[in-house]
Amino acid sequence: MSARTIVAVIAAVAAVFWLASAFWTYKDARRRIDDPWLISLAVALGLVPYVGPLVYMLFRPPEYLEDVRERELEIKAMEDRLSRRDLVCPVCRAEVDSRFLVCPICTTKLRQSCVNCRAPLEALWQVCPYCETPIEAPGSTVYSPPPWQSSGH
Ligand SMILES: [Zn+2]
Ligand SMILES: [Zn+2]
Repeated sequence: MSARTIVAVIAAVAAVFWLASAFWTYKDARRRIDDPWLISLAVALGLVPYVGPLVYMLFRPPEYLEDVRERELEIKAMEDRLSRRDLVCPVCRAEVDSRFLVCPICTTKLRQSCVNCRAPLEALWQVCPYCETPIEAPGSTVYSPPPWQSSGH
């Protein structure tokens, strides 16, 4: 092998490595960056021989876009579950209508009804919006301890 061939081989290897690192930068940037303008900026940086990809690695976003999307979906699913929570029976998990007073499956009391007009009431309401009757708090009845607890006096 002549000296010229060796130089040509080294130059070819260097060129392949340079193109591969630039291509890797492009692929990695596409997985992490949403903005096409920023992706082209990353590719331009990746085309700087050898130093470019290293600089890109220092400044690239830490997460893949699909991970971010997955996490957002998970959060959304959790929020859906939370907002649906009062539409299932807390005891038997059966789906219940927001106007049900008791669970039709296991007869658990789901909400109070107005003493005057029998309309279903929200837990936070202080007055019946349908007939203006004030609502008694469900726990307002005075708790009387069973006799075996008050015997210490
Ligand atoms: Zn139930
Ligand atoms: Zn009412």
